[in-house]
Amino acid sequence: KNICLPNGNILGTSVDFEDVEAINKKISPVLSKLTKTKFFRTVKLDLYKKCDLWENDDVCLQEECKVEQIQPSHIPNKWKSKNSSSFGGFSPFKLDKVKKQNQSPKNFALVYDETEDSEEAVWVDLVNNPEKFTGYAGSSANQIWLTIYQHNCFDVAPFMTDTASGWGDQKTGTNNIISQFVNPPSNSNMLTQFLINLGQEIFGFTQKVEIPLEFQMFYNSVSGLHASTSTHICYDHYNKETGTWSPNLGCFIARIGSFPERLRNIYFNYALLLRSIQRLSPFLKQYNYNDEKNVSDNASSSEMSTKELVNQLTNIAASIDKPFNENLLFKNEKTKDLIPEFKATFMNISRIMDCTGCEKCRLWGKTQILGIGTALKTLFSYGNSDETISNIPSGSSANSPKIETSDALASNFGNIDIKRNEIVALIATFNQFSQSLHNIEHFRSMYHDLLTKY
Ligand code: FAD
Repeated sequence: KNICLPNGNILGTSVDFEDVEAINKKISPVLSKLTKTKFFRTVKLDLYKKCDLWENDDVCLQEECKVEQIQPSHIPNKWKSKNSSSFGGFSPFKLDKVKKQNQSPKNFALVYDETEDSEEAVWVDLVNNPEKFTGYAGSSANQIWLTIYQHNCFDVAPFMTDTASGWGDQKTGTNNIISQFVNPPSNSNMLTQFLINLGQEIFGFTQKVEIPLEFQMFYNSVSGLHASTSTHICYDHYNKETGTWSPNLGCFIARIGSFPERLRNIYFNYALLLRSIQRLSPFLKQYNYNDEKNVSDNASSSEMSTKELVNQLTNIAASIDKPFNENLLFKNEKTKDLIPEFKATFMNISRIMDCTGCEKCRLWGKTQILGIGTALKTLFSYGNSDETISNIPSGSSANSPKIETSDALASNFGNIDIKRNEIVALIATFNQFSQSLHNIEHFRSMYHDLLTKY
């Protein structure tokens, strides 16, 4: 078995795994500095929203699960200003579980309005609350992931190529798998195996249905997020016997290293996030980060301003070939209308995160779903195009990132309604995947050291 090495191609990308690791070596030093600036380490999330799906009584009370909050008095007024609210009252999707909308029609994840006062929302310093082992586990944690995978059940009927002699005629295992697709198995191991083998097993057998790349992308993103979370847990792992924190190779091999497709999905998300940063570069470069050097940035390890670091990051990103081809997706007759279904599904995942019984896990779950949602929004809500998203009028402020594009661009991109916390989540999520790649390389070398010993 190919332990600790991904295999196969990265879906929708033109790069291989070595390329992604080489790119990460260029990007991670500046990305890591950027995420330590005040602007990018500070996020406001509706962390204490009630779980709508079930009674959530399995709550982790251990110290490691808790989140340290920032007092609102330490937050720049500009970030809290009501004037910055750019959307309201639009409810484009019929979601079973999501009650309150106020969402831009372009959103893939629920975007919390930072300017809203609510007991559910808190300001948090992401650097002071890193994603690592917390001890949150068991049926409650498994249930969240399982519920998220269950939302992968898109309607495959339009993708049947021979409906006349279709599924109903099959008396064998195919019907069984198709019925599972509608009603996925409740056991998480079975479910995962089923999802992974779905394409080959059903379609190798009947040749009746082709799984669209778009559905695969959904699964890859979620599985990649899950795998990246597990990588952080195993890297920053607490050994109860010795009372020390250190990388746990056994944990990594058991959860990620011996599953090449899980590894692959981490690289997939990295490529997706990088591509969205490429497209968003002009917007990010012109954004007003309000961080003149005199604005306190106590834990920044950098002498450079946030803007200078963003410029560095976007310049490196621009020097890299397109790592992900969004033009392959949502383009053909059958898939071009799938975007609303995707948005609705991703938004439901944001809500499922509310049911996570550990504050810190919820913080990172929500932040990263928002980060991936922002990447998808960047790539698919402003037209599938090689062009970058730009044309920011002068005088735009950090509080009003809603950008009016010129008429010429409006037909391609519409209004760019990306809020401060979406930008923060996008960069923070990219950094989490960047760190995961670093962690994977570390585990790979631990594994090789172990092999050479015996
Ligand atoms: P789980 O990770 O719970 O996985 C359940 C099942 O899903 C597995 O048995 C396997 O069949 C399948 N599976 C596993 N990985 C993948 C994959 N990548 N792709 C497809 N299928 C897969 N714990 C912490 O210590 N720190 C955290 O920061 C943290 N954050 C979390 C955030 C969220 C949103 C959630 C839901 C949980 C979080 N947890 C965290 C808990 C952690 O993710 C695990 O649930 C827990 O460690 C138990 O792990 P497990 O081995 O039972 O399997």
